[in-house]
Amino acid sequence: MNATDFSGFLSLWSQPGLTTIREELFDRHDVQVDLLRLDQLHPQVSGNKWFKLKYNLMDAIRLSAAGIVSFGGAYSNHLHALAYAGHRIGMPTTGIVRGEAVSNPTMDDCRRWGMHVHFVSRTAYRVRHTEMFLEQVQQQFPAYAVVPEGGNNAAGRRGSAEILDGIELSPYTHIGLSVGSGATLCGVLEAGLTHQHVLGFAALKQAAYLKDEIAAHSDKTNWSLIEDAHEGGFGKFTPALLQFMHEFETKHGIELDVVYTAKMMKAVYGMIAGGQMPAGSRMLLIHTGGLQGNRSIR
Ligand SMILES: *Cc1c(COP(=O)(O)O)cnc(C)c1O
Repeated sequence: MNATDFSGFLSLWSQPGLTTIREELFDRHDVQVDLLRLDQLHPQVSGNKWFKLKYNLMDAIRLSAAGIVSFGGAYSNHLHALAYAGHRIGMPTTGIVRGEAVSNPTMDDCRRWGMHVHFVSRTAYRVRHTEMFLEQVQQQFPAYAVVPEGGNNAAGRRGSAEILDGIELSPYTHIGLSVGSGATLCGVLEAGLTHQHVLGFAALKQAAYLKDEIAAHSDKTNWSLIEDAHEGGFGKFTPALLQFMHEFETKHGIELDVVYTAKMMKAVYGMIAGGQMPAGSRMLLIHTGGLQGNRSIR
């Protein structure tokens, strides 16, 4: 890759904007809500997955990897972002995808951007974290960099800390974001100020194990995990969630994604209405993108 390609590549992580969400409900409780728009980073791909990929890609380039292999579901925002990045920088990519072979808009994009897509059974996929499985993958794709599902590793956490770069953080009392693996929360927690409380809204059921995951990567204690905002589990949704998403988009002109950010936003409304946010709170919520996944519900 030449120097021009490289600066063009880095410009994919442009500075996101902030939108203040205006609601009578918020005024009544004297709470301010600002939304950090990672959904607007790039016309085709967006969100926190970019930040988690940044140093994974740079490491692969630095080590002259023959390509990058990673893992995800058939609607994975991570594989989608990886495929696009690989296409942009001329790095071959392989996606190992959970479940039976399907064709959907996410996988079609990935293939169009040159990703080699391999479907594996759910049973085989379940052991993707084991050393044996990873060794097999490495043998099958020699000289490839192996990036874990969702970009959940040290490079991913390091990139996530840059999400807050350039933002005047001091006025905020709370930072809120949706949580899958917790890697993004760890990065944000690192970059946040000590007086701020970081609220993580788990997008999955039985998320208690994530507390150990997060604690294993950070000594900070100014965070909590909200475990009852999952709306039925990962990738699941309720009619009430869809209605909330629709109303939010109609009122504010901002699309939320059904897997992550809609659940966070609905829970925040509930917390404010329930008097759980102290008067004077200033919340910085992170729109982590992922809108491409909404094509699964259309
Ligand atoms: C992956 C993802 C998350 C969760 O990020 P983690 O680092 O895995 O916790 C949140 N929002 C969106 C839109 C995502 O794609």
